[in-house]
Amino acid sequence: MIKPNRLSGEQYAENFSDIHPPFETTDAALVEANRCLFCYDAPCMKSCPTGIDVPKFIKQIATDNIKGSAHTIFSSNIMGAGCSKVCPVEKLCEGACVYNFMEEKPISIAKLQRYSTEKAMAANWQLFVRKSSTGKKVAIVGAGPAGLSCAHVLSREGIDVTIFEKESKGGGLMTYGIAAYKVTPQFCEDEVNYILGIGGIEIKYNQELGKNISLDELQKNFDAVYLGIGVGLARQLEIPGEELEGVEDAIKFIYDIRDKGYDKVAVGDKVAVIGMGMTAIDAATQAKRLGAKQVTMVYRRTEMEKPCTQVELDIAKLDGCEIIWLAAPKEIIGENNKVKQLVCSKMILGEPDASGRRSPIDTGETFTLDVDMVIKAAGQMPFEDLVNEIKFKIQRQNFNR
Ligand code: SF4
Repeated sequence: MIKPNRLSGEQYAENFSDIHPPFETTDAALVEANRCLFCYDAPCMKSCPTGIDVPKFIKQIATDNIKGSAHTIFSSNIMGAGCSKVCPVEKLCEGACVYNFMEEKPISIAKLQRYSTEKAMAANWQLFVRKSSTGKKVAIVGAGPAGLSCAHVLSREGIDVTIFEKESKGGGLMTYGIAAYKVTPQFCEDEVNYILGIGGIEIKYNQELGKNISLDELQKNFDAVYLGIGVGLARQLEIPGEELEGVEDAIKFIYDIRDKGYDKVAVGDKVAVIGMGMTAIDAATQAKRLGAKQVTMVYRRTEMEKPCTQVELDIAKLDGCEIIWLAAPKEIIGENNKVKQLVCSKMILGEPDASGRRSPIDTGETFTLDVDMVIKAAGQMPFEDLVNEIKFKIQRQNFNR
């Protein structure tokens, strides 16, 4: 049966406490920092999507220059504190660390990044000085990682920024789209406040583009407009039964946990999660942590092709989630309009295509799972209609010039 409030307050608090243990002592951080070889042309840095100078910030920690270290990180990525908790570092910086080639444990880059950025946030070190005002004004739509990062860079240059955010809190994906045990609500709030600490940035909440504000209005009132609206649309399965009560998008499920609180979100006894990306893992593990008795993850390829990292998969397994590889959802069967069963096709993998990726092929055989909730995590897309509307408007403006 799908119901909220399955556990005690203490149990929720334990299940959703911060999963990342920080360094227990300064000495432990220094010892780890001193393991770094400070490589020339460092592969860890090249693997960071935001290009953080990893050997430099680690060297600064090793020499007890924590402020300098935080400055190095925030210069490349003002959300470096949050990223130290949520980035799939096993695939990025830590996965590229040269220690892997020596079959030794890579440097704990994320933990070191967390060490200095959390110190900066706790002490509210404002490491950037806003230049004197240029008199220019920029509107940003969306107070997620892209919008906040853009706002901070513009503010440093003396530009006044107004962010229009449709939610009642800032942080976007970090605040609403990631498991609460990875980044707690308090941390997300602190991170947004820290970024705003530079000054010159105002966030107007509960302001949605196309509803409360229009692009025309923003273009008229500001010197430039930046759209940071993210990719928050859930891809649908396009199978029968998707409309039944008890079928939910993973992003909505995660959003509700973050928005309403653990005890307010209903979860089933037997939950199936479709997909194996990070969002699927976050949905499955949180369903278990909300008190679901059985959570089964269904993925149409094999473990070799999984989009999540091994660390993520291990979290799901440790939480007691079961995994079925080579299975694709075929139909959701209901009774009295409520989910009762999930029928899956058994798959095999075909020959690799030009990119080397092997596509799953339906064997024609099926199996059935008894479930009372199905969470869909088959991927996310940009807000297509909105993006197309904006593109069309911009093309028309360019044409009329
Ligand atoms: S690759 Fe590893 S050892 Fe080399 S600089 Fe980066 S973290 Fe340090």
